Amino acid sequence: MIRINENYLKLQASYLFSTIARRINEYQMQHPDKEIIKLGIGDATRALPKACIEAFHTAVDEMAADATFRGYGPEQGYPFLREKIAENDFYSKKVDISEDEIFISDGAKCDTGNFQEIFATDITIAVPDPVYPVYVDTNVMAGRTGEFKNSRYQKIVYLECTEDNNYLPDLPEKPVDLIYLCFPNNPTGATISKGALVKWVDYAREHKSLILFDAAYEAFIRDESLPHSIYEVDGAKEVAVEFRSFSKTAGFTGTRCAFTVVPKECMAHDASGNQHSLHSLWNRRHSTKFNGVSYPVQRAAEAVYSKEGKEQVTNIISGYMKNADRIRQEMDDLGFSYAGGMNSPYIWINAKMDSWDFFDMLLKNAGVVCTPGAGFGTCGNQYIRLSAFNSFENIEKAMNRIKDSVKK
Ligand code: PLP
Repeated sequence: MIRINENYLKLQASYLFSTIARRINEYQMQHPDKEIIKLGIGDATRALPKACIEAFHTAVDEMAADATFRGYGPEQGYPFLREKIAENDFYSKKVDISEDEIFISDGAKCDTGNFQEIFATDITIAVPDPVYPVYVDTNVMAGRTGEFKNSRYQKIVYLECTEDNNYLPDLPEKPVDLIYLCFPNNPTGATISKGALVKWVDYAREHKSLILFDAAYEAFIRDESLPHSIYEVDGAKEVAVEFRSFSKTAGFTGTRCAFTVVPKECMAHDASGNQHSLHSLWNRRHSTKFNGVSYPVQRAAEAVYSKEGKEQVTNIISGYMKNADRIRQEMDDLGFSYAGGMNSPYIWINAKMDSWDFFDMLLKNAGVVCTPGAGFGTCGNQYIRLSAFNSFENIEKAMNRIKDSVKK
């Protein structure tokens, strides 16, 4: 008899985006002439940088001739891309990461979801609340979380991020083994200073824990004092794995390319306390289950680091951040308190009411779609997330409509 992994039955159905879609449809049926502006989903809206498109085309043409055709590539990624990443994202910023510590993949979603596979099922995990749901659900599937009761999984240590702690999680009160951190944060848009990050690295070193640091939004950092990488903290290479993505940086959400950094110093332990290299274990896992990102996509990602590519990426990010500034300005004018939007494309707004009620109000009165914070955890119940991924024109229109509807 074929049997299932019963941990899957513990998963909470994610009603978030399907419920949003249903409510939009209902509204649209009743108001067929009303134009809806979507500031909910965090998906890039601007085209790939020109430099990436050109590199993409050239690489596709190479695949058309026997002499330049490429079949399977290295599972860890082509050296041309790994070298550029090591040089531009780390070495030039005085962070010592070598190219063979970089694993190219088709997304930070897969990597942040898959990494937990190499750990024991009875370790304790800590996740922020609110949180990018992938961290939680993949641990549920692995059987690490216990049952879902009273809106929470019984074995997860939740690190609450609220206005009171500036959306920065406090260190766990009891020892945990695996810690998920994401900065700049989705959904709150909060950032972490180097000093605060030092405390997490010290904690991990003291408790022999590991930090999974999701830096998918590092390209949106404008404040030069903020760390872009956890490896800017001394000692982090022993206790942290970092995830990056070209999705939001360069509009690769539909093209798919990301990378994970696993330093060679990073160790985990077996039941007898012997150390094992995470780099070797991840390399084994990655090359067993993954066959590499396509050659044209890696060439397109490489072009992000060309002179033109860098300028074009900066331009795209500045466009999104101009949108974020406009949203923040409107929230200031309307007297809402919020986090994010300074170094992140997300603005996390204290709605001071149930997040779904606020969602409905915004949809009905303004024709604007937000994401109800409840979808990211119990700490999000009174919050909504607005995303800066849209055209400036739409953001402007949406803000004017929100102003009119909130002032009514
Ligand atoms: N990590 C965070 C925090 C995200 O918000 C997202 C996407 O929204 C991802 C990872 C996924 O990135 P990718 O498109 O590389 O899979």
